[in-house]
Amino acid sequence: MRNTLILITTLLCLPALAQESVEPPPVPQARPAGLEAIAPVAAIRPAWTLVDREAGLLVPMPRQRPGEAPETAVVRAVETPDSPDVETPEAPKVEPDAHIAAPEVPTPPRVYQVACPAVLQGKVEAKMLPPVVDGQCGAQSPLEVSAVLANGRMVPLSGGITTDCGMATALPEWVAAVDSYLMGRENTQIAELIVGTSYMCRRVNNGSEGNLSFHAFADAVDVTGFRLEDGRTVTVEGDWAEALSPEGRLLRYAHGAACSHFTTVLGPEANAQHHDHFHVDLGCHGKTCTARLCE
Ligand SMILES: [Zn+2]
Repeated sequence: MRNTLILITTLLCLPALAQESVEPPPVPQARPAGLEAIAPVAAIRPAWTLVDREAGLLVPMPRQRPGEAPETAVVRAVETPDSPDVETPEAPKVEPDAHIAAPEVPTPPRVYQVACPAVLQGKVEAKMLPPVVDGQCGAQSPLEVSAVLANGRMVPLSGGITTDCGMATALPEWVAAVDSYLMGRENTQIAELIVGTSYMCRRVNNGSEGNLSFHAFADAVDVTGFRLEDGRTVTVEGDWAEALSPEGRLLRYAHGAACSHFTTVLGPEANAQHHDHFHVDLGCHGKTCTARLCE
């Protein structure tokens, strides 16, 4: 009886062993009664259970490292680029990233702002402000300018203005021109630039309808006068009318010089709304933005 069992086992195993090096393992056949105590072929076969179907070869399963969880070994085999989708009875299919994927955290949108050369070069004292978003009004990279460079020194503004880089670039050059005029004609200098409205979300001439003012884009500044080193305060409202007085001539020089540094200059002769200040901005006039409005 014992010899018979050995013979049957040998006969059963020989075909499987002959095919093992070239073909995937056959489906186990039903065994005769009484052979349950003998381990089936598939159970004693080592780790040669992954089949490289393209090459027609058996390939070894990755060895499980000491202490490595069986689930991890299965994930590693699935992640191998060319490994086939082979499942073993002991390895239920696992979604590779199901237990390691981090929850998605929404990324806040980046704030795109740009630096201003006039600030970097020290032509103005200014600090960057966050973007202004107010309906149709706003500015992406507004600055709060508190002083401008003129003839080698900083001339303070009567208050910080919210404006853009273009205005921060043009203002120092204009103030320097007016300052040079005062040094040559009046033997004094500008002690302070008196400013009014800068950024404001409103329409032209404060109207209830019509185009938005360039104040609505932080691209316009109203200047109401100059405080001088010799103690005088010259204002558009109080000194424009006396055209031939030193103060009247200063204001007209300042108005004319502004027309070289800005694209829009509106003073008392433009309309009644500007009786007490110069409005200066860098709005685009003409098809190529090279025209100027100087009134
Ligand atoms: Zn204005």
